[in-house]
Amino acid sequence: MFQGVIELIRGMLTTGKEMVSKPVTYQYPDVKKPVPPRSRGRHELKRHANGLEKCIGCSLCAAACPADAIYVLPAENTDAERYSPGERYAARYEINLLRCIFCGYCEEACPTGAIVLEHDYELAYYDRRSAIITKKKLLVPPPNPDLTTPRAMPDPGNLYAAIPPVKGGIEPVNIVEMAKEKQ
Ligand code: SF4
Ligand code: SF4
Repeated sequence: MFQGVIELIRGMLTTGKEMVSKPVTYQYPDVKKPVPPRSRGRHELKRHANGLEKCIGCSLCAAACPADAIYVLPAENTDAERYSPGERYAARYEINLLRCIFCGYCEEACPTGAIVLEHDYELAYYDRRSAIITKKKLLVPPPNPDLTTPRAMPDPGNLYAAIPPVKGGIEPVNIVEMAKEKQ
């Protein structure tokens, strides 16, 4: 009897405590619950500070993907139409989110930090085709509209003109000028 009264009081205290505590309900979709910093949501393809795409079309992400969810079609950059530093860029980049298990292996495998699993978790689709996200949706916008891709490079032949300056990095080399000097 005495034990029952104690349990009843404990129950009432728990109820009373919850009545005055702050609600944990989020009014989704108007209010979105913040996710932990390391959580993995939909992928994004990142850009350098100079607007060029970080992806160089190497397909290492596709090779590392255990679910075979990534398709990359590389193409050659030119100085007149440059998308990324280096020789190649991803002409097509697709991820099938129905296959993806959000393991993060693609992010680990990427040598340039181009593909990153961000925090977008609103991944519901009405049909299967919509779950295949293309480069158009994956690629983040440029830092400003003048720095979009593709664009012509101002210094053709300069191997490093496309690469954003790195503190303590190597000096730019113009292969056109070097070839002239050797003649
Ligand atoms: S998160 Fe994992 S499963 Fe999803 S695309 Fe990347 S490697 Fe593939
Ligand atoms: S996202 Fe990274 S690993 Fe994948 S193709 Fe582009 S550069 Fe290569």
